[in-house]
Amino acid sequence: MSRRLRVRQSQTVLPFGVGAVLDIQGESFVATGIGDWPRQRQPVESRRLADRLGVTGFFAAPAALDDRYDRPDTAGAPYIRFPSWLFCGSCRRMVRWRIADEKHGVRPRCPSCTPVRQLAPMRFVQICASGHLADVDWWFWAHSRRTPTERQGCTSREQLRFRVAERAAGLEALSVECMAKGCGASRDLLDVLGTHGLRCSGRNPWQRAGEAVDCTKPVQIVQRTAGNLYYPVVHSALDIPESDAPPATDQALTKRVLESDLWVPLCRAAQGPRAAVFRDLLKEETGADDALIDLLLAEETGAPLPAPANQDQPVPGRPDLSREEWVAFTAPVPPATRDFALRETTLGLDQETAEPWAGLQQRFGRVVLADRLREVRALSGFSRVSPDAAFVPADTARRLRWLPAVEAFGEGLFITLDRERLGDWEEDPAVRRRVAGMRADLERSFQQDRLRSCTGEVLAPRFVLLHTLAHLLVRQLAFESGYTTSSLRERVYARPEYDQYGVLVYTAAGDAEGTLGGLVRQGEPPQLAETLLRTIEAGAWCSADPLCSEHTGQGFGNLNRAACHACALLPETSCETGNALLDRALVVGGENVPGFFEPVVAAARAAAAAAVE
Ligand SMILES: [Zn+2]
Ligand SMILES: [Zn+2]
Ligand SMILES: [Zn+2]
Ligand SMILES: [Zn+2]
Ligand SMILES: [Zn+2]
Repeated sequence: MSRRLRVRQSQTVLPFGVGAVLDIQGESFVATGIGDWPRQRQPVESRRLADRLGVTGFFAAPAALDDRYDRPDTAGAPYIRFPSWLFCGSCRRMVRWRIADEKHGVRPRCPSCTPVRQLAPMRFVQICASGHLADVDWWFWAHSRRTPTERQGCTSREQLRFRVAERAAGLEALSVECMAKGCGASRDLLDVLGTHGLRCSGRNPWQRAGEAVDCTKPVQIVQRTAGNLYYPVVHSALDIPESDAPPATDQALTKRVLESDLWVPLCRAAQGPRAAVFRDLLKEETGADDALIDLLLAEETGAPLPAPANQDQPVPGRPDLSREEWVAFTAPVPPATRDFALRETTLGLDQETAEPWAGLQQRFGRVVLADRLREVRALSGFSRVSPDAAFVPADTARRLRWLPAVEAFGEGLFITLDRERLGDWEEDPAVRRRVAGMRADLERSFQQDRLRSCTGEVLAPRFVLLHTLAHLLVRQLAFESGYTTSSLRERVYARPEYDQYGVLVYTAAGDAEGTLGGLVRQGEPPQLAETLLRTIEAGAWCSADPLCSEHTGQGFGNLNRAACHACALLPETSCETGNALLDRALVVGGENVPGFFEPVVAAARAAAAAAVE
């Protein structure tokens, strides 16, 4: 029985990037570190992102018809089977599967059963806050109620059975039993979730035993599909025309080093006596320092870098890429390039004096349509257990200086608010009070650092307003244009320190799907004005009202106010903040707070009422 497993290239960064566990057709795999990536990978250009992340560049896993996890020499990002403990649903035998057991295109089979039975992966795995992941030591689990002496008496570590009791239900019904001769140790899974004083493996499944560190973090047993198993750290940059004078950067330096005539001799000399001479000449010629040369040498020759002093590193800060993008969207429209083509337009309401249109016009500023956009998304690493736990880089050996990335092409819709009106509204004491409460909740949140890369230094009313508007607009556009909400994405430009006050809604896909022009058509007059009005009107309503509107803190970490699944949340891939910091009241008004668009909502209602009369 043969089968094809396929992970699309665009999925190799998110959701199935390095360290992620994925279920495909009843089998379970983990994406390995980029140290195992094939040589024929495709470069992905994004100088701006590379500079800001301090890496030498990006590569995408080659698009492959059939991504092969079980042979290192084939195309595609590699995945290995995980967990390696499998069981047979018929005879309940447990089998520890090894890479050598893999046969391409064939699912693991039970060695005891005829007719053939497929083996299924165990549902539980173990993780720790240093980012390690491993199989549960099921032998130990089965013997955990035995004394050490009794355990030593057991003659086999692999003869296990995954029992299911007929008369019990839930985890209590499941048990792991040792079938070794004369043993019979067994323990049910009733309290399997949580910490049990198990030892951490000190590594991830694709790392060799020699790469394991001595890890003393408590181990948690979780379901392999648990949300806290994997928190990827993904960065995204739009291609914008280069500014006039690019600074002397890491990237430029790297290029100078690699193109120097001294580079190859230095690599060949490696640690030899002449290496120091070549190195000094190279430093003089290019201006590179020892640290950069060490990194490039490590990448080229595979020489290990000195291990970092502290094994556990926090998730590094995310660079703020919004500044240049904001400038690109608000400056006079630049000449179109292959990857960035803008067109300025209007709402088409210039002559309008009737409400609600006049009020709508007064509250918006610039409208820019992006006929072509290119986005690069790169994965720098991940954490487990919680988003602020130790950071594991995409190259677990910490040797490579490139990152896995994918590029996507699409189109977008950029709008700003009226700067003066926005400033006046932000001065309103009731608005300030409401956002001060959200800010206090944000400061208590462990997500603070991550969210600050979106909000800017201090959470301002404009961020919550524009963010909520972006969500409502995505939902409205999905409703009107046939895009799914998950194919649309937001970028909120609302950092007061950079005088930002706009949003971009865009779609970007690895193939042609994203570039059909549908989104941009929706942004042309008169459609956009109508869409915006309906967006704002929709914001005044939620099926969970009055509960939703009156909420003083809902969502993860209580970071939302009037915003819930029924009215304002988006699929995770669409939102920059993970659906945090949303409040419809700031858009349409609430009990004690004026909404920026409240007069427009009122005028629209009045106009609708007048039309009926
Ligand atoms: Zn079987
Ligand atoms: Zn035993
Ligand atoms: Zn660990
Ligand atoms: Zn709601
Ligand atoms: Zn969002």
